Amino acid sequence: MSITTYHHVADHDPSYPYDPDAADSTPAQFRWQMETLARHCTPIGIDDLLRALDGSPLPKNPVMVTFDDGYQSCHDVALPILRAVGIRATFFIATSFVNERKLYWWERVALLVNQATHGATLVYPKRLVLEPRSRATRMALLDTIKDTPNLDVNRFLVGVAAALGVPWNDEIEADYANGLIMTWDQIRALARAGMDVESHSRRHRVLQTLDADGLRDELAGSREDIESQLGRPVRAIAYPVGRRLGRGSERIRAAVAAAGYRIGLSNASGANRIWPGSLGSMLPFDRFDVRRQSLDRSMSDAMFLTQIAIPRFGYYGRHDD
Ligand SMILES: [Zn+2]
Repeated sequence: MSITTYHHVADHDPSYPYDPDAADSTPAQFRWQMETLARHCTPIGIDDLLRALDGSPLPKNPVMVTFDDGYQSCHDVALPILRAVGIRATFFIATSFVNERKLYWWERVALLVNQATHGATLVYPKRLVLEPRSRATRMALLDTIKDTPNLDVNRFLVGVAAALGVPWNDEIEADYANGLIMTWDQIRALARAGMDVESHSRRHRVLQTLDADGLRDELAGSREDIESQLGRPVRAIAYPVGRRLGRGSERIRAAVAAAGYRIGLSNASGANRIWPGSLGSMLPFDRFDVRRQSLDRSMSDAMFLTQIAIPRFGYYGRHDD
């Protein structure tokens, strides 16, 4: 079974102020990709996947369409296309950004670096030389957030804004967030249209960088946020940044299970082989290591078809947010 991951659907636009890497398809590409999946595959939802893990057979050529984060384009662009084509997709929501109207930290980094007019040197949490409008600077800042244990991300990014001389406050941030991130009303509209709404943590922190309290808040907290807003159970989580829970991740796996999740999805490329009946007990499927396939706006239609037909040729895009 292949699972396709999207984040944001948007056309190329040179004046676009946000993260240029967030969009994985244009609206035209997305429509063609959904029509292609509807024609050649059987799109399934989280319930079908859960039943398959309990031993039920999957339909022929099963495929899942998933979205991470909670971009407004999910509601405004993707939903009408999904409804027209008849595909049930799954949306994984990072809930603190919806609740607090804060901007995703990678988008905040992109805006700060792109608006900077001079360079600077940071000292917290480590020495970093920042260059205005530099992709390398953007990546270095993102890596610091992804890799620093228990980092105070807000303190860090307030420091980046001050060092780069870019004006930033709650009002500015809320304006940006309102232009980019769904509201609960929009997320409820997805659910009403038959889409699955599941968890992508609260603050989109890399789980490996969190202590026990942090894990509990990100994992159980996000599930509670969605269940209280939508009034229906959350079963699955897509790991923020998509790192696999590989060897040595027992602590995090236990926290994911304790928070009530039955399935965990990474962004590691690959197909998932789920065997029905007694084969399934001989070849067990790791429900906390579900693989997905990344996309990119530069991906050709032929490559998309190849990836769906032969998932092990999966495209290795840069997307890990
Ligand atoms: Zn994400």
